[in-house]
Amino acid sequence: MDSIYTTISGTEGNVMIETDGGNVEVIHVPQWIKTNINENHDTLHYMVELNTDRRFREDSIVLKSSDITCRISVSQSFKATFIKFTPEEVAIPARGGTEEVVVDVDGEGALTVDHSDIARVVGRKIFITLTKNQELKDRTFDINVACDELSASLKVTQKNSKCQACNGTGYSNRVCPVCNGVGFHVCCNYRGKAYCDVCGGSGTTE
Ligand SMILES: [Zn+2]
Ligand SMILES: [Zn+2]
Repeated sequence: MDSIYTTISGTEGNVMIETDGGNVEVIHVPQWIKTNINENHDTLHYMVELNTDRRFREDSIVLKSSDITCRISVSQSFKATFIKFTPEEVAIPARGGTEEVVVDVDGEGALTVDHSDIARVVGRKIFITLTKNQELKDRTFDINVACDELSASLKVTQKNSKCQACNGTGYSNRVCPVCNGVGFHVCCNYRGKAYCDVCGGSGTTE
């Protein structure tokens, strides 16, 4: 191995060292990398810390054994390389409500969202709020969440609140008891059918 690349969050690992048996020492290492050589002098353990410099940084670890030096270059980004959501998708019940999404991101920049009417950012969380779905069809939103130059799409769905008993019509199959099915009056909105017992005529539940 002659180079290490890591994201803002840092990394750690081991590098095997082959020598003629002599001792190995680290003669150069930047402050943001911790190193340790094992007792047998055949393994270098390195740990690259979180990048708090707010800039891309690179340096190297230089090892020396006898008169031979060996350079391992290390570079580390500071911009976000991934955005993950927990939960991965949001389902809001038909009656409406607020759901919390935890965002895991390796950048340090502020999160931004579109659809700011339903999505609110608080630190590394996003709160999605929807009112009752009055429509007879499901609703879907794709919220664009961005950090640094990276963005990811958060899917939000909400079931419709269509009354299953009357399939959203608001009416049952029984004749209107007031006009006896004639349907000439406002008693059943001129339908001649009784209102649905489940939704009371609204066509929606909850
Ligand atoms: Zn009627
Ligand atoms: Zn109904």
